[in-house]
Amino acid sequence: MRISRRKALSSALALGATTALLAGRVRGERASPPADRIRPPGALADAEFLDACVRCGLCVRACPYDVLRLADLGEPLPVGTPYFVARENACRMCEDIPCVPACPTGALDRSLVDVREARMGVADLTDAERCLSYSGAAYCHACFQACPVKGEAIRMQQGRTPGGGLIRPVVDPDRCTGCGLCEQACVLDGTAAITVRANHVSHR
Ligand code: SF4
Ligand code: SF4
Ligand code: SF4
Repeated sequence: MRISRRKALSSALALGATTALLAGRVRGERASPPADRIRPPGALADAEFLDACVRCGLCVRACPYDVLRLADLGEPLPVGTPYFVARENACRMCEDIPCVPACPTGALDRSLVDVREARMGVADLTDAERCLSYSGAAYCHACFQACPVKGEAIRMQQGRTPGGGLIRPVVDPDRCTGCGLCEQACVLDGTAAITVRANHVSHR
């Protein structure tokens, strides 16, 4: 009897701990979301976004390119919240931004009407040594070509690079929307040389 009570108590404690963990995950108690998980265009700053988003998935359904997905249990983001991974499927910067009006709560801010004003994140040449242009291994400008705001958000800067190349992609963080199309287009195997870090402070 004593053993079964002890067992029952430890089971209850284990259940309580698991429930607290799951509740924390569902509520989104995560100090810093990973930088490669990017919120949709117009998303409010993280704390406000998590309060406003009801995890309905309507933005995901509205996206014609299946870019968005909802975080699942065990993923490093609050369960049921929408995000995308640029290297896998970047935001196409739809002119009518259908994911935004699909949101019933304003977690994706409807005052965003020009997708070029979105600030989902910012691109950077995070692994310059592997970049074919920067290292001089080849002339490549695939990331530049893929950018919907090319010439403003990204340009190919001429001039000798420390890596031995003659040209390199340079991002203007004030014009970059964080769509991730440059990261997706990078010709390297595996991780891209240019990557987008999510903007979890302000998405506009
Ligand atoms: S702007 Fe278009 S591609 Fe990007 S997340 Fe919204 S619906 Fe999807
Ligand atoms: S993330 Fe890349 S492709 Fe998108 S706007 Fe910025 S530089 Fe251009
Ligand atoms: S696509 Fe990749 S390898 Fe090519 S220039 Fe851009 S960052 Fe460099």
